[in-house]
Amino acid sequence: MIHFDNVTKAYANQNRPALDHVSVDVDKGEFVFLVGPSGSGKSTFLRLILKEERPNSGAIHVAGKDLGRLSNFKVPHLRRRIGCVFQDFRLLPNKNVYENVAFALEVIGKPRRFIRKVVPEVIELVGLEGKAHRMPDELSGGEQQRVAMARAFVNRPMILLADEPTGNIDPATSIGIMKVLDRINRTGTTVVMATHDAAIVDSMRKRVVELEDGKIVRDQSRGVYGQAY
Ligand code: ADP
Ligand code: ADP
Repeated sequence: MIHFDNVTKAYANQNRPALDHVSVDVDKGEFVFLVGPSGSGKSTFLRLILKEERPNSGAIHVAGKDLGRLSNFKVPHLRRRIGCVFQDFRLLPNKNVYENVAFALEVIGKPRRFIRKVVPEVIELVGLEGKAHRMPDELSGGEQQRVAMARAFVNRPMILLADEPTGNIDPATSIGIMKVLDRINRTGTTVVMATHDAAIVDSMRKRVVELEDGKIVRDQSRGVYGQAY
């Protein structure tokens, strides 16, 4: 599903590459934690998958497509098939829960009848049934992140990328967020989650890919956050 072959990404005016000869494969349906200190290259890795950045060398394939050969007009199509969740939720403040989720389908021209069918289903999947008419500022952080996950998932993306999704959420609430991500993963969606949250990584026992100074220093199935000594 995601294939990095010897990928190096160096930003201008940086003394070392953000990603340095990274090779990794993520299969369809996998759940992968991307860990490593701040500045180790996690966000760059996610942005490369979306073709928001281009590598200086190496090749990236996503869902069988060589991103280096993907023409610019096909990039929106790629991004439609990849859901994204961020630390800061990024909800539309003037739309309620239902409208925030529905908007993701409206902008890609889905028929209203389809939207009316699938939005309530996804609101239920993330555990927000009964709250469809709440505004974002009437929700807790954990609930706002559930809305963001519903919005990211409503178009049934093949990949879900999550960048520190529990970074603004207390530990007890984070467990619920992870249950939703796990539920999404169980539908067959490949999940890649960048995180600093050791407790979450240790509790899930999923594959862990660790970056340090732009290099993969560990790739462990059923791993933990810290190096197991
Ligand atoms: P992480 O997500 O692990 O914190 P990043 O991928 O954001 O790591 O950053 C990796 C390195 O690339 C850091 O040294 C960072 O300063 C640098 N970097 C990230 N984005 C940019 C950018 N847009 N321009 C220049 N340097 C960047
Ligand atoms: P109609 O309006 O002709 O009855 P549908 O409402 O079933 O057709 O679907 C119309 C469009 O909605 C499709 O072309 C497709 O883009 C989208 N669609 C339907 N079902 C799904 C689905 N399960 N996942 C994603 N998009 C869908």
